[in-house]
Order: sequence, then structure tokens, then C-alpha cells
Amino acid sequence: MTLTAGVIGVQGDVAEHANAITRAATAHGERVDVREIRDSGLVPDCDLLSMPGGESTTISRLLRREEIAPEIREHVAAGKPLLATCAGLIVAARDAGDERVANLDVLDVTVERNAFGRQRDSFEAPIGIAGLDEPFPGVFIRAPVITDSGECEVLATWDDRPVAVRSGPIVGTSFHPELTDDARLHGLAFFENPALDTSA
Ligand code: GLN
Repeated sequence: MTLTAGVIGVQGDVAEHANAITRAATAHGERVDVREIRDSGLVPDCDLLSMPGGESTTISRLLRREEIAPEIREHVAAGKPLLATCAGLIVAARDAGDERVANLDVLDVTVERNAFGRQRDSFEAPIGIAGLDEPFPGVFIRAPVITDSGECEVLATWDDRPVAVRSGPIVGTSFHPELTDDARLHGLAFFENPALDTSA
């Protein structure tokens, strides 16, 4: 059987996530059909969902305008996997401390946007991640810091701050796992996620 994956495509970074999902699926012996989500009505068919980075104010506004936001909430409430990266993490969060972001409030974290400081605006660092044997190349681009990880499991820290968390079916990262050749994080978030229903 073939799983249906959705990549939220209201702003971009879709092809990179689609590639990473496809590679991770192959590595786990799964077949996946990846769809770009720009309109409502598609998320309900998805077994798993990626929410890429970009600009969180824009993404959250478009998700609301296109009426995709409630569908993502229902996807998570149904216990289906969601990977939220960088601006995606900001949008998924409980609170981003910025009224221009319409938070989905599906992940029990608070975040601070662009919080690594000017010198560290964009950088790459090897990140040790719970569940992965070798460090993961973390690409941080004007990344958010997780200021309160609530009840989430912290999967990774950098500079003593959480940069990857898991809560139920959701994995959230401050960095961009799709911008590397390494699909292990997508594997962890989706195909090693007990929330994934492969029986459909
Ligand atoms: N700085 C962006 C924001 O706050 C996130 C950056 C990214 O997704 N690379 O929305």
C-alpha cells in the first residue's frame, strides 16, 4: 500500500521536504505519494504531514485564510504524524510571543523567533538527536529558540537550548532537516513514529 504525505506549500521549501520524505520512506521500505498542500480539502487524506520553514507570520496567515489551519489541528488530534521545521515549528507552537503569528497551538512549546542572535543568524552544527546513532547536520536559518518545552520530550539541544522536541505524533525542529542529504530526521518523525498508521 502507498502512504499519502502532505507538504504544506503555502510558502515554499516543498521540493526539499518531498525529497526527504521519499528518501526516508524508501529507507524504511515504505511507498509514499507526496502532495503539495496549498488548499483546504487535501490534509484529511494525508497519513503524515510536513510543515516547512519560511516566514511564520506569512505561513500562519495563509493557513488561516485558506482554511487549512483547522485541518492541521484535526490531523494532529487524530494522532497522525506531523513534522514542523523552523517557521513550521513557530506556527505549530502554543505561543511565539508575536501577535503577528497565528499559532496553531498543537505543540506544547513556546518559542522566540530569530533568537540565536546576529552572529549566529545562520549556521550549521552537528546535533545529537535522541533516537539517531550519529549526529545530525543541523542547518539553522534565522531559527527560533524553544523557550519552554512544556510537557514535550526534548530530542536535541544546542547551546543548552532545546532545538528538537517530540510530543505525541509531532516532531518539531528549530533547524532545517530537509536542507541536507540526510533523511534520518524525516525517518524518525514519520516512519519510526508509532503514530504512523501503515495499515490503510
Ligand atoms: N525567522 C523565520 C520566522 O520567524 C523562520 C526562519 C526559517 O524558517 N528559516 O518566521
